[in-house]
Order: sequence, then structure tokens, then C-alpha cells
Amino acid sequence: MSSCTREQRELMKLFKCVIDTGNEVLSAYFDLKVLSLPQYGGHFTQFLEKEKHFLYHQWEQKRTMCCACPKVGCYIRRIKKMETWIFQKLYEANGIEDPAHVIKHGGCIQQLCLHKFVTKNIAAHELDISVLSFLLRIFANMSISEKLSLDTVSLCRSSICHAWSTNCFPMAELNKMWIDIETHLINLSEVRYRRIVQKQIQAFRKLEVDREEIAELSNHINYMKEAVDDFNHHLNNNHNKVPEFVKKFEKLYINDSHQIQKSVSDQFRAIKQAQDAVVSLVKSEAQCFKGMHESVLAKMEDQHVTTKEEMVKMRESQERKNDYYKEKKRNRDRLSIESSVQTGKDQKLAKTQTQKSSNTSPANPKPPPI
Ligand SMILES: [Zn+2]
Ligand SMILES: [Zn+2]
Repeated sequence: MSSCTREQRELMKLFKCVIDTGNEVLSAYFDLKVLSLPQYGGHFTQFLEKEKHFLYHQWEQKRTMCCACPKVGCYIRRIKKMETWIFQKLYEANGIEDPAHVIKHGGCIQQLCLHKFVTKNIAAHELDISVLSFLLRIFANMSISEKLSLDTVSLCRSSICHAWSTNCFPMAELNKMWIDIETHLINLSEVRYRRIVQKQIQAFRKLEVDREEIAELSNHINYMKEAVDDFNHHLNNNHNKVPEFVKKFEKLYINDSHQIQKSVSDQFRAIKQAQDAVVSLVKSEAQCFKGMHESVLAKMEDQHVTTKEEMVKMRESQERKNDYYKEKKRNRDRLSIESSVQTGKDQKLAKTQTQKSSNTSPANPKPPPI
């Protein structure tokens, strides 16, 4: 590490400052904002025990219920996704599971036993900044400026670890990081400790790190990098496990498919029974309707016969009327002819008489008799 550049040495000092002072300040801040609350009694293990159920549901991705959940369902909302490595920092999966607490249905786990996870015996100051920041964001009641400070410190820590494995920052960037670290760590410190924190940060800045220390810090950074790689490896392993999951899923699918088939045939049988019932009902109604129809037809037939008889009667009556009127007309015509014949005779007679009388007194003719 003798070939370290000035920028690399500066980065080392910054890293040391963030790891040492940063962790101290954040764990004291966590103590003040969270552990001092009455329910935790100032003890980190008590906090972990009390919040195990809540943190379990922040970590568990499938929203599977656990034995601590009420029967009606899980009421805990997932506020913030908890990475597995953070959960594993706080709890160990070596507890004794109660078989009665694990509920499976058709190959699917519906409830897990929370007793499987045991609280680790650790103190807040032993935790990494990432874990402390995660817990602070969920449990601490912070002001906007405190949230900003927490974000800035977390960002600096991540940038330093990342920069070491890639490229170093230029001096201007490093100087800005020193100012940020100082400002925000002071902001997260209790008023009475602020001067001490400031002096400590400035001392770090002036300190010349020796070769041994550089080697030690370098190992530390590598260790953190390994932790990240290990995490990635877990991810990859999970990735390799995908075919295994697919097989399990296929098995579940086949199982479910059998159940679906069974359910479909049950439903089909039920539908057929219902259909038969409907057919029988329709048949019986049709029979009933047929009876009604025949009875109506018979009635109509009777009515038809009656109507036919009435019509014959009406026709006969009409014919009789017609004959009567015809006879009457014939009589009237005959009378009329006879009358006109008589009138003709009378006129002829009158004419003859007129001719006779005109020969005797033409000035005073007598009117013909009517
Ligand atoms: Zn639960
Ligand atoms: Zn349990």
C-alpha cells in the first residue's frame, strides 16, 4: 500500500472516520430516539425481541402469516423492504419450531412459526451504518433535517466502499465529503457531545495513516466488499434454485390440476343433476300444459259446434226473412201493375166520354170521374 496516492490515503481516513465516529454517533442517536422509549427499557435485545414480529413481516416477502398473527389475518403493513442480510444480522434461524404452528394447505405454506427465529445477543453499536439507518427510518421520530443528515451519512459510507473497488474520488470531492460528514454527524449528535464529535472528525482528517493501518483498513473494506459479494452469491444461488422452484411449482400445478379436474367433474355432476331436475320439471309442466290444451280444445270444439248450429239457425232465419221480403215485393209489384192497368182503362174510358160530350157542349166540359 506504499504506492497509495494522496486521494487513496484521504479516502482511507474518511472511511475510518465514517466507520468509527459514524457508527458511534448513529448508535447513540438510535439509543436516544428509539431505545430510550419506555417499551424497550434502553436495551437493544429487548427492542429486537419486542419488534421481532413486526420486523419478520418487513422481511418476509410472500406475506405469509406467522404463529404470532391473529387468526383473522396479518395486520402488519410492510413499511420498508428489509433485506435478508439485515434480518440475519438481528435474528438467527436456529429456534425450535412448533409443528402445530406451521400450517400447510395443498403443498403451500399458509403459516410459519416465528419461534424459529431467535434474537441475537448484540448491541446497537456493533451494527453497521446500513442496519442502523434501516431501523432508524422505521422506528425513530426524526425531523426533516435529521433525515437529510442520516441520508447523507449513509450515502457517504456507500460511496466510499464503492469507490475503493472502482476509482478513487478527486481531492475536491473528498474535501466536500469531509465537510458533509462533519456537518451531518454533528447534526445527529446530542448538543453536549457536538464539540467532541467535531474534534474527533478533525483529528481524523489531520491524522497520517501509517502503512499498517492502511493495510488494516484495506482488509476491512475488502471484508465489506466480500459481504456484498456473498450477498450477490446468495442471489445467484437463488437464481440457480429457480429450476428447483419450477419443479416444485409444476408439482403444485399438477396437484392443483387434479384438484381442478375433480372440482370440475363434481361441478359437472351437480350441473347434470340440476339439468335433469329442470328437464323433469319441464316435462311435467308440458304434460300439464298438454292436458290444459286438450281441455281448451274440447271446449273450443263444443263452442264451435254450438256456433255452427247457431249459424244454421241464423241462416235459416235470414232465408225466411228474405223469402218474406221477396213475397212482399212480388205482391207490391203485382198491385202496382194492376193499379196501372186500371188507370189505363180509366183514362181510355174518360177519353171516350170526353169525345162524346165535346160534340154536345164544348164550352162547359165535365171533368172525368177519378
Ligand atoms: Zn405474523
Ligand atoms: Zn410459533
